[in-house]
Amino acid sequence: MRRFIAQEITPGHAAWEEQGLVPRELWRRAGSAGLLLPMAPAEHGGGGGDFLHTAIVVEEIARALATGVTGFTTHSDIVAPYLVEFGTEAQKALWLPQMASGEVVASIAMTEPSAGSDLKAIRTTARRVDGGWRLDGQKTFITNGHHADRVLVVAKTQPEAGARGMSLFWVDTASPGFAKGRLLDKIGQRAQDTAELFFEQVFVPEADLVGAENQAFGYLMHGLVQERLMIALRCATALEAALDWTIAYTRERQTFGKPLIANQHTKFKLAEIKTLAAATRAFVDQCVAEHMAQRLDADGAAMAKLWASEATAAIDDLLQMFGGYGYMREYPIARAYADVRPNRIYGGSSEMMKEIISRTL
Ligand SMILES: Cc1cc2nc3c(=O)[nH]c(=O)nc-3n(C[C@H](O)[C@H](O)[C@H](O)COP(=O)(O)OP(=O)(O)OC[C@H]3O[C@@H](n4cnc5c(N)ncnc54)[C@H](O)[C@@H]3O)c2cc1C
Repeated sequence: MRRFIAQEITPGHAAWEEQGLVPRELWRRAGSAGLLLPMAPAEHGGGGGDFLHTAIVVEEIARALATGVTGFTTHSDIVAPYLVEFGTEAQKALWLPQMASGEVVASIAMTEPSAGSDLKAIRTTARRVDGGWRLDGQKTFITNGHHADRVLVVAKTQPEAGARGMSLFWVDTASPGFAKGRLLDKIGQRAQDTAELFFEQVFVPEADLVGAENQAFGYLMHGLVQERLMIALRCATALEAALDWTIAYTRERQTFGKPLIANQHTKFKLAEIKTLAAATRAFVDQCVAEHMAQRLDADGAAMAKLWASEATAAIDDLLQMFGGYGYMREYPIARAYADVRPNRIYGGSSEMMKEIISRTL
């Protein structure tokens, strides 16, 4: 993964940040290198690995600031697991090999313009028709939304039942009635495509319902555990990397005839952040071990995400130590500052994590 990023991603990343997305071909190259779907079963073209393989992919992307391919992990370790765990044998046999090779790029679409934190308030609906369903609605902020060939869409199938009336659909983006909006203009993660999606009377055949009808909420609560742990890992790693760059910079940069790090203020702040990064790593790694043993529950994952994503706020203090250079995008610390920010928002915001944790008090 490290070699792939160095050879195939880092050289083009700045140009892709300008364009707002990575080349579609990069997905096929990552597939050929065996870097997509590391955890999916080998008989379906996956890597046959476990969560530690996924952890390596997440960490290497974070460490190298290759945030244009954050969506690799959405595709591999957020979307694919819904097919692996809840899909039919036919769905697994057909789609997992194509996702592993990068022939098919996948997204997951929960959020809508009027419903983010409050998932059960979504308005996208799927109505039963002969041979399948008709989907109507709109989604926003969808990672991989521009490149997506298939989107795992959360829609209401029984609107009056609230959270118990939602289902998952594996929607073909070539279907009539489907449209992609513009690439959204983000302050960070600028090479990662994020898009709006529109569905107008989109026909979804019966075979593309994922799992049982009306059961999506339970599936999502299960899937979000791994998603939140991945975000926590990404944040723990981003903080470590930012600390390393800052230590190197403050040792080198001279002011008033001595290195910046020789000032008590600077070295004490770095000592505090080193301690924060170490505590974050210890907690997140413990949660990884719990997840490997299938013991990590919703509030454990929420605590890991809350803690690690909030810890990245310290990147603001690290940026300060670079002075004006810290505000220039050619310095990794400047990009890291903007790139880590949505980790406190997506996958459930910090406030929603506190809501989940407080239910256990
Ligand atoms: C870069 C990026 C990529 C994303 N990728 C995806 C994706 O691939 N798929 C997808 O489905 N979604 C995606 N999202 C959407 C993301 O999950 C939502 O933005 C997030 O869940 C928050 O929803 P919202 O934006 O509607 O904010 P809102 O729900 O409107 O919340 C606004 C603010 O109010 C707070 N808040 C809300 N309710 C309460 C409450 N009861 N008490 C206290 N505070 C509250 C929230 O925490 C937040 O701070 C992405 C977002 C971003 C920024």
